Amino acid sequence: PSPIHIVGGGLAGSEAAWQIANRGVPVILHEMRGVRTTDAHKTDSLAELVCSNSFRSDDSTANAVGVLHAEMRLAGSLIMAAADRNQVPAGGALAVDREGFAEAVTHEIANHPLISVVREEISGLPPEEWDNVIISTGPLTAPSLAEAIRAATGADSLSFFDAIAPIIYRETINMDVAWFQSRYDKVGPGGTGKDYINCPMTREQYEAFVNALKSGEKTEFKQWEHVPYFDGCLPIEIMAERGVETLRHGPMKPMGLTNAHNPTVKAYAVVQLRQDNALGTLYNMVGFQTKLKYGAQTDILRMIPGLENAEFARLGGLHRNTYINSPILLDSSLMLKSRPGLRFAGQITGCEGYVESASVGLLAGRFAAAQRLGREIVPPPATSALGALLGHITGGHLSTDEEPGKRSFQPMNINFGLFPEPEPGSVVTTVDGKRLKGKDKTVAKRRAIAARALVDCRAWLEAAP
Ligand code: FAD
Repeated sequence: PSPIHIVGGGLAGSEAAWQIANRGVPVILHEMRGVRTTDAHKTDSLAELVCSNSFRSDDSTANAVGVLHAEMRLAGSLIMAAADRNQVPAGGALAVDREGFAEAVTHEIANHPLISVVREEISGLPPEEWDNVIISTGPLTAPSLAEAIRAATGADSLSFFDAIAPIIYRETINMDVAWFQSRYDKVGPGGTGKDYINCPMTREQYEAFVNALKSGEKTEFKQWEHVPYFDGCLPIEIMAERGVETLRHGPMKPMGLTNAHNPTVKAYAVVQLRQDNALGTLYNMVGFQTKLKYGAQTDILRMIPGLENAEFARLGGLHRNTYINSPILLDSSLMLKSRPGLRFAGQITGCEGYVESASVGLLAGRFAAAQRLGREIVPPPATSALGALLGHITGGHLSTDEEPGKRSFQPMNINFGLFPEPEPGSVVTTVDGKRLKGKDKTVAKRRAIAARALVDCRAWLEAAP
């Protein structure tokens, strides 16, 4: 077969190359480091880890990223094999010797008989002659390629920053305090007039919250990371600094809402949460993008009535990033709808983190190889971690934005909110005759989701080797 081209030899591109070459298809991997570097990379090695050396939890029984590790190992992942061989002690986490890890990946790729590595920057869209190509150029995609992608997909389709509002597991929101209602009971397309979860605040609670935001610890940006604040996207702590009333006139405005638990008392301020995924397991905090440090975020956000015990699937953040509006642009095989044969992989698709990026590289590589070999492309089941992440990227995301044109797709780590609910019979509900409650109940549910994921992933790999 003729070669598949891959642009970018990071976590995703290296994994994709490995998957393709191991299916007997030649690969030409174009990596610019060696000729041109990025603001965060320090070496010329493939799959360099630019920051932490952790692949996070390795627990495949009750942790979502641990399940993803296990599925990638089952799928013959190079990134996982190199990580396992270069592991350093880190409790329940999988941490690696970063140099040993990147050298191992570079060595395996360089010595694979079907892979050639070309050190060059691809500065525009790949030429049309490349009929099967994967772009995996990551959060720091070189500017000329990023501009070319933007020109080809539309101005609103590529973001250079993420402004992430925290996302909460629905089941951890206290509905004895919060209630469902859309502002002014407005019924939008597909809506019911009860689309939002609302958390009420008294004046005292609101003022204490604003003060906590002002004094909360913030993350510092690196010089090259300077994020331009644009209107409608200000971090909540910056709004708090502008004046005590600013939030109450912005994302926390109480108008058009009546507390279902206490209709005669008008809330002084209201925090709204909007359904974030089609499954209804995740809710995002509307207008709550923030660059508070993670510890400060959880402490301060749990001051909000109804969110005292909130568990976060994702905390807020503001980062320099490059990612496309995948749910609109890509099909379920990660292929650009407007240019068949061109796929995206890694963080540029809107996943977040080393492991997730590598896993999307694994999928893109398998899909591209299947296409080249004339085989059917079989996506992983939605119940597997690979399928759950692919679902977030290519379709499962729900856009309920009432303002047309405003994009709501934001990058995401793998988490249990992306999986379908477990079958009721599969969840352990009692231990030693006692009914499980609270955290224990949540863990039991996660165990059922994790066990099902691995069974279903194995079946998928057998059907689509
Ligand atoms: P990358 O690993 O970045 O690989 C992309 C490759 O493409 C690079 O080698 C680049 O040189 C190359 N390239 C770019 N443009 C071109 C071009 N035009 N032509 C040819 N080659 C090109 N994730 C974590 O899990 N933990 C962390 O602690 C963490 N910290 C981070 C800190 C920073 C500052 C940044 C920017 C990211 C961080 N991430 C972290 C995210 C993590 O880096 C990414 O999730 C992961 O590296 C993405 O993998 P990727 O393969 O998509 O991109």
